[in-house]
Amino acid sequence: MESWRFVADVHLARLAKYLRLFGFDTLYFSSIGDEELIHIATTQGRTILTKDRDLARQTPQAYLVQPKGLEAQLERLFADLQLRIQRPFSRCMVDNTLLEPIAKEAILERIPPKVREWCETFWYCPGCQRIYWRGSHWERMQLMVERFGGGTP
Ligand SMILES: [Zn+2]
Repeated sequence: MESWRFVADVHLARLAKYLRLFGFDTLYFSSIGDEELIHIATTQGRTILTKDRDLARQTPQAYLVQPKGLEAQLERLFADLQLRIQRPFSRCMVDNTLLEPIAKEAILERIPPKVREWCETFWYCPGCQRIYWRGSHWERMQLMVERFGGGTP
């Protein structure tokens, strides 16, 4: 199965975040020019996600994202590229780094007391040091994953 890698343009921060949630390797820069986007796409084998028709016309490596809401954009993208969620919750939503499991004892001071009481499983981002766990936020994310066919990890 083809494994898609993306680079999203500056207007698609939320889309990039959700693609990372679904496990897709997705770069995003809050400031980047068209030339650099095309350079990254070409050298790293990534598909550019953009709402900019001019950019989409410049390179066959661009996918023109529909100017609708996030879920509609994702639906179209999944249908057009036949995407399949394979490793949901495997990447940091903030910086795309692959998460690593981490022992609760190692991060006790960094998690809220309430979470300490009930949660035993944690992940850690080597990129930005964020700690992830399956809290209330996670449940909402899980619904999105299921909605796009990802099932339960
Ligand atoms: Zn991170």
